[in-house]
Amino acid sequence: MDFLRCEINSKGTTMDCIFCKIASGEMSSSKVYENDSVLAFDDIRPLAPVHVLIIPKKHIENAAALTLQDADIMAAMLNAAIEAASIKGIKESGFRIITNSGADSGQEVYHLHLHLLGGKQLGPLLTH
Ligand code: AMP
Ligand code: ZN
Repeated sequence: MDFLRCEINSKGTTMDCIFCKIASGEMSSSKVYENDSVLAFDDIRPLAPVHVLIIPKKHIENAAALTLQDADIMAAMLNAAIEAASIKGIKESGFRIITNSGADSGQEVYHLHLHLLGGKQLGPLLTH
């Protein structure tokens, strides 16, 4: 997949960002949970039985672009991840929440997202 970087317009969205398009409904997704500020949907290339992405509806590139002004969005994203874990039935069995930020992380889509992973033993966070 190409690296997707976006120019932000006055509404905080962009014409070119696929996750902005999913947030606006212009592009379809398998929705898991939604509220005013965030959306959770199934990853199209799941790496575990449960693999949900949680995005802010406002365009933010990644974790490195966050500021304290985004505290409410960050809280809403984490809350949505827990809601999604409950909806998917993995809140008690366990799960992992990760986010990629920047080139060394392998970030593919430059719109902030949490990965919620679970439904099996996930193993170590990284391998040697
Ligand atoms: P990252 O590498 O952290 O940027 O993760 C991007 C994730 O977005 C990958 O796991 C992709 O499978 C996922 N993805 C890309 N396009 C879509 C889409 N249209 N719907 C759902 N997930 C997507
Ligand atoms: Zn975006």
